Amino acid sequence: MSNLKYCQGPDCHSYTTQDRLKGIKGSKTFQTRRRSSLNYGEFCDTRCQYDWLSKYATQAVDHFGRLKEVKHLTEQNAWVKDYNYTSGWGSDKNYIYLNKITNEQRPLTEAQYDDTNYTLNER
Ligand SMILES: [Zn+2]
Repeated sequence: MSNLKYCQGPDCHSYTTQDRLKGIKGSKTFQTRRRSSLNYGEFCDTRCQYDWLSKYATQAVDHFGRLKEVKHLTEQNAWVKDYNYTSGWGSDKNYIYLNKITNEQRPLTEAQYDDTNYTLNER
């Protein structure tokens, strides 16, 4: 029981679902959900995630750093790995690197496709 994680939703306990109703007869309470693993990181569901964001997003952004200028996805870092299927029978894949700005395609090997460190993007 000690390894359970508590949902961090500030209002989790206020949602009156049967699984939150705990305790012995006569002293039951709706309680914050706790699970061995939570489906949404620190939260039991998207409602609790949204509640937390609504309450703390500004503080969190101020703490971790506020974006103060437009970011750009340029030709130099717009490459994405993709594949299409070869025509005919079988399901051989054609691996490609596709530039989302220029639409240029370059061939890619399956090993390069699978290699998470392999990129044409400038870092
Ligand atoms: Zn919750």
